[in-house]
Amino acid sequence: MTVTIKTTCPYCGVGCGVNATVDDVTRTVKIQGDKAHPANYGRLCSKGSALGETVGLAERLLTPKAYGQDTDWDTALSLVARTFNDTIKRYGKHSVAIYGSGQLLTEDYYVANKLMKGFIGNANLDTNSRLCMSSSVAGHKRAFGSDTVPGCYEDFEYADMIVLIGSNTAWCHPVSFQRIRAAKEANPNLKVVVIDPRRTATCDIADLHLPLASGSDTVLFNGLFAFLEVNGLLNHGYIAEHTEGFSGAITTAKAHADLMHISERCLLNPDDIILFYRWFAHTEKVMSLYSQGVNQSTAGTDKVNAIINCHLATGRIGKPGMGPFSLTGQPNAMGGREVGGLAHQLAAHMDFSNKEDVERVARFWQTDSIADAGGLPAVSLFDAVYDGSVKAVWIMGTNPVVSLPNADKVKQALKHCPFVVVSDCIAQTDTTALAHVLLPAQGWSEKNGTVTNSERRISRQRSLFKPAGQAKPDWWIMAQVAQRMGYKDAFNYQSAAQIFREHAALSGFENNREQGLRDFDISGLATLNDVDYDALTPMQWPINADNPTGKARFFADGGYYTASGKAQFIAIKPTAPIHSPSNDYPLILNTGRIRDQWHTMTRTALAAKLNQHKPEPFVEVHPNDGQRYGLVEQGLAKLTTTWGSMYARVHITSTQKNR
Ligand code: SF4
Repeated sequence: MTVTIKTTCPYCGVGCGVNATVDDVTRTVKIQGDKAHPANYGRLCSKGSALGETVGLAERLLTPKAYGQDTDWDTALSLVARTFNDTIKRYGKHSVAIYGSGQLLTEDYYVANKLMKGFIGNANLDTNSRLCMSSSVAGHKRAFGSDTVPGCYEDFEYADMIVLIGSNTAWCHPVSFQRIRAAKEANPNLKVVVIDPRRTATCDIADLHLPLASGSDTVLFNGLFAFLEVNGLLNHGYIAEHTEGFSGAITTAKAHADLMHISERCLLNPDDIILFYRWFAHTEKVMSLYSQGVNQSTAGTDKVNAIINCHLATGRIGKPGMGPFSLTGQPNAMGGREVGGLAHQLAAHMDFSNKEDVERVARFWQTDSIADAGGLPAVSLFDAVYDGSVKAVWIMGTNPVVSLPNADKVKQALKHCPFVVVSDCIAQTDTTALAHVLLPAQGWSEKNGTVTNSERRISRQRSLFKPAGQAKPDWWIMAQVAQRMGYKDAFNYQSAAQIFREHAALSGFENNREQGLRDFDISGLATLNDVDYDALTPMQWPINADNPTGKARFFADGGYYTASGKAQFIAIKPTAPIHSPSNDYPLILNTGRIRDQWHTMTRTALAAKLNQHKPEPFVEVHPNDGQRYGLVEQGLAKLTTTWGSMYARVHITSTQKNR
């Protein structure tokens, strides 16, 4: 007998709803888009459509293992708890760390964060989401006083202009791209501008493509900010009533706003720059969508604020069809931010920088050993493993030996680390190969909990099948270790629903004007019973007494979460990219995702049809550079950077910039 279960796709941050028709006897599932889910209204991309091909057991990790041998759960959990406790006793609490993933469900993330920051008492808990959107988090906090995405997907349909910055949306957020394409078909006035050094598939719907020089985004957006001011196109009422810092920011922007200077720095045609500026200036309903090309940068936070400055200056924020909008990479990058899954965050959008927040969370968790300062972010965390100051690390649901920058160093770090624990649903990855203890986690089709997508929408991910082998939920694994470490009462969790209720209650705890108002508040869900939790329909936070069914947008009428209640303009002084071409390294290597694979392919590569799109690593080279370096179409190139070398198949194409 089959049954259809509503769940969500586990890949990108679009967070598409899925109708999964499950045959439990044959362990097969038929996948369709959920027409009722507001993220996708029935659409799915190639990856989501192929989910049914990834639920087999062949590649799964099915039993706990310690030092290469199968073992039972009790032995494995006790070994992890004992070794973490021994390491802390011998070397101090900063000698242990957890590295999580945007693949974790919110409930998993909550337990990890509570264990590390609340009870072990250091904040060495970071996540691979650090790589995809921590710049957006920092940019939001600088401008808004909170990590708030002001708009929603529906704005795509209201907009008259959509600017896509550093985002190959067609490949990386395909269903959002489909929505934008459909919006453009329905509204011939909708202009699409793509700002990206490469001419990608996203440019298929672009009215204008600006192939700017890598890393020059702040120059381009400072120029736009200045253009708006010089041409009298600012919203002075909004600036005066709802913002601060305008004068310093515009002075800095105007210092770098000469058109020829912008053209030279960005390597763009001046006419194209002016055309973009005019379109932006004269289109009220404009959205700026940005992704990894903005975020994954040494100047990522400045890029985010350079974009936000232009929206604050025109008051185009939080209203239908307008605003800055960060496209998150992972299915639960946003959920991780909600619980405090980054090393510099505390919990529920509270911070270490605020002593009252630290005391508040300690009160809620009833702990006297809470961390009082931020911990090591992802790259530094593995540097600390490498230099031996972190001696026990627990990696959950991610493959950093492949996915982190300077991956060879990460591999060396883990090779020499005295104690490496990996929880994963896949048995053989480059990271599981280096684990002393392997803990089998449930995979997408077995997990049960919630995720939050790019537009702050919380959706349920539901179990389709019984767990494979001895696989367990990540929250259960962590709670069991926490109890064995001595934190029995605080981690006595019996279900994902129980954890969600606690997370929701913390979001509303002492969250008011007197004690400090916070944007993230889902206290309206804190008393859900198990049945209601199971039946939870997708909702956008905040969900509280004022917004019982959620809220689509923030900040149309101000109400920022800064001390003054006003948004902050940030003065952005463009800096030269850290890695510019040199005699030794004369070319710029720009990396990107491919359409049909996800992360390090540990799951998507299980679907045969997904491997047909781009079956091997490739490098795209401009014809002039190909000639200069003797490269031919379909030949092999050896790429060498300051970080290492690799071989890739050559594709000669003028979609790449010339040297
Ligand atoms: S990968 Fe992203 S766009 Fe594709 S179905 Fe999944 S959530 Fe939707």
